[in-house]
Amino acid sequence: MISSIDLPSQYSGLKNEIDTAVGRVLKSGRYVLGPEVEAFESEFGSSCGTDHAVGLNSGTSAIYLSLLALGIGPGDEVITVPYTFEATISAILATGATPRLIDIDPQSLTMDVTLLENAVTQRTKAVLPVHLFGQPADMDPILAISRRYGLNVIEDACQAHGATYKGTPVGGLGDLSCFSFYPSKNLSACGDAGMVVTKNASLADAIRHLRTWGPEQGSGNYRMAAIQAAILRVKLPHLKAWTTRRRFIASQYTELLKDTALGLPLTMAYSGHAFHIYAIRSSQQAALQENLRTQGIEVSVHYPQAVHQQKKYLGLNYQPGDFPVAEQLATEQLSLPIYPELSDETVTKVATAIRQL
Ligand SMILES: *Cc1c(COP(=O)(O)O)cnc(C)c1O
Repeated sequence: MISSIDLPSQYSGLKNEIDTAVGRVLKSGRYVLGPEVEAFESEFGSSCGTDHAVGLNSGTSAIYLSLLALGIGPGDEVITVPYTFEATISAILATGATPRLIDIDPQSLTMDVTLLENAVTQRTKAVLPVHLFGQPADMDPILAISRRYGLNVIEDACQAHGATYKGTPVGGLGDLSCFSFYPSKNLSACGDAGMVVTKNASLADAIRHLRTWGPEQGSGNYRMAAIQAAILRVKLPHLKAWTTRRRFIASQYTELLKDTALGLPLTMAYSGHAFHIYAIRSSQQAALQENLRTQGIEVSVHYPQAVHQQKKYLGLNYQPGDFPVAEQLATEQLSLPIYPELSDETVTKVATAIRQL
C-alpha cells in the first residue's frame, strides 16, 4: 500500500530526539505553555522573520483569534476564497463576521488578485489569502490594495510552512499569519497545535490574552501543549531539508507526467512552493482515483467541493457558477502522495501507474 502520508516513518527517523524531548516535558511538570512553548515560539517566529509568535492549540484557533485581535465581529466583512479547507471560512463565521468570497486564479490556485478590489465594501475589515497546497498567494498586490483601503491582511499559512514569496518566508508578510501543526501538515506535531506569528507587538499581546481567559469577549482556552512544542522543536531544524525534498519529489512527478493529458501544478515565478500537496488535474477524477486505489495507491481529493458548495455553508447564499474556477477544480483535483520520507522508487511507481491508465 502506498499511502498519501506516513507519519510513523518520520517518527522513526527522529525517535531518540523526540523521546528525549517528551521525557523532558513529562519530568518538568510544565504541561501547558511554559518554557518549551516559549522556546518554540521564539524559534518558529525567527524562521518566519517575525519578532512575535503565540503558540495555540490549532490552526483554526489561530485564524479565529487573529480576527478577534483585529476587532472583527458582527457587521464586518472579511474577503477570502471558496477553495480552501473549511476552517478558513468557519473561523470568520465564528466571530459573527461575514465571509466575502472571491474566486481563485486558475494557475496559482490561490486568491485571484484581479477580483480583490471590486469585492471591497464599506464593511470590509480584512483580507484573508490562503497559501493553498504550499503555494503562496500573490501577496504584493494583496498588500497594496489592502493598504489603499485600510484593510488588515491575515495569511492562512496552514499549508505553507517553509514556502517563500519573492524569497521571503511566508508568515512575515501579512499583519498576522496563521499556522497549523496538525499531523498531516509540512511541520507537524503529534496531536493538534497551531500558531500566530506577527511583527506587531500589540496584536501578539492581544492574542496572548485571548488564548487564556482574558477580559475580552471570545477569549478562552486556546493554549499550546508543552509536549507538542517540544516535539516541534525537534522537527523545526529539519523543515528546510524536508521542503527541499518535497520540491524534488514534485519535480520528479512533473518530469514523469509532463507528456500526459493531466494538468500539473504550476510554480509561480514569485513562489518558493512548499508542496504540501502535489495537485494534478484530470477530467477523469473519480475513475483515476478508483483505479489507483485498486493498485494500492492512495490518492485523495482536496477538495471534492468548494466551501460555498458544501451543505453546511449554503447559508452563505452563493449560487452554483459564482466561482467557476474553484468549482471546476473541485471536479478535477487529485493529490498524489508527497512527503519527505517518500522514496524515489515509490515516486516512479506512482507516476508509472498513472501513465499506464
Ligand atoms: C489545516 C488547515 C487549517 C486548520 O488547521 P487546524 O490545525 O486543523 O485547525 C486552516 N486552514 C487551512 C488552509 C488548513 O489547511
